[in-house]
Amino acid sequence: MIIFAHFAFFLRLKNYGKERHAPDSSRNILVNTGGTPYKVLVMPIATPAQYRAMLDAAQKGGYAYPAINVTSITTINGALRAFAEAKSDGIIQVSTGGGEFASGTAVKDAAFGAIVLAEACHLLAEKYDVLIALHTDHCHPAKVDGFLKPLLEASRKRIAEGKGPLFQSHMFDGSVVDLKENLEISKALLKECAELGIILEVEAGCVGGEEDGHDTSGLPSEKLYTTPEDMVEVYEALQPIGRFLFAATFGNVHGAYKPGAVKLKPTILRDGQKAVMDKHGDAAEMDLVFHGGSGTSSEDLQETLDYGVVKMNIDTDTQYAFTRPIVTHMCANIEGVLKIDGEVGDKKQYDPRSYLKKGELGLSQRMVQACNDLKSTGKTIYSKA
Ligand SMILES: [Zn+2]
Repeated sequence: MIIFAHFAFFLRLKNYGKERHAPDSSRNILVNTGGTPYKVLVMPIATPAQYRAMLDAAQKGGYAYPAINVTSITTINGALRAFAEAKSDGIIQVSTGGGEFASGTAVKDAAFGAIVLAEACHLLAEKYDVLIALHTDHCHPAKVDGFLKPLLEASRKRIAEGKGPLFQSHMFDGSVVDLKENLEISKALLKECAELGIILEVEAGCVGGEEDGHDTSGLPSEKLYTTPEDMVEVYEALQPIGRFLFAATFGNVHGAYKPGAVKLKPTILRDGQKAVMDKHGDAAEMDLVFHGGSGTSSEDLQETLDYGVVKMNIDTDTQYAFTRPIVTHMCANIEGVLKIDGEVGDKKQYDPRSYLKKGELGLSQRMVQACNDLKSTGKTIYSKA
């Protein structure tokens, strides 16, 4: 009996060695719980090198990643489900308002909430076989110390523990100051980011409309268009320091508008890229970001992909896609979700899970559509990167 037990243990050891040296061992880890070791598929959030490979693949392949704003576990799950179903890599992002919301109404700490959401993404993404990069959205100069700095510190701490950075990219939005000051702050932040393997997104010009309590709807219209000279200036200031993403503006506006209300000029992007590449060569083509894309026609969208857009932010459309099925749930079950005239309602219908699941699925379907529109569907580089 004892001999048999030893033999069984020996067999287990033998298999352990074999599995550990399997060709795909870099992506799988063996967990030894004291019994037979078993394999767990681990898909961490994209490493800095994988994120760069994602952006390069999109630039080369003429497609872009949807970057969805999340505010909760439910919206994260909807986004991950969509990317996995579309077999698309993607970007999940947190705004200052989203972070504040996630920290709880009693705490209201944007950086803390962003850390909570990002750590949740790191764990939840392990269940899927596509690459996900984490990003933070608009951060104005006044919020750098309270938002970006603590997040960079959180990445520094993770790297010291042998992990990857918490976020793979951050946005600094210096569009509220002049370009010179914008680039001075951007350069200092990019230096700090680059040391951690993090990419910095910058903005020149200004996205119109209102988002997250920041309202630029009163701006003169010329501020909504970045000039080719500005684009050359941004490239020359940042390229020597590290990798960056560039939200050049071409009339884009945050929020939902009826068709025709927003005058997009994607040729602004073409002219700016040309100015940079004429001066610095073809390799200088920049990774551009499209903000305020809700309601964009498919012709305009295709043009932006042709001119080097690799990331498109999606917020307004997925907010609606999340809320719409919840409205149907409430209207269809009004006598169950309310306690009317001394009745007790229907617990099954007012259980938040019953309608939040519908919101998650609504958001997820809209995200699959975004992957199709941006042509990232089926293009995951998960097994190659
Ligand atoms: Zn934006």
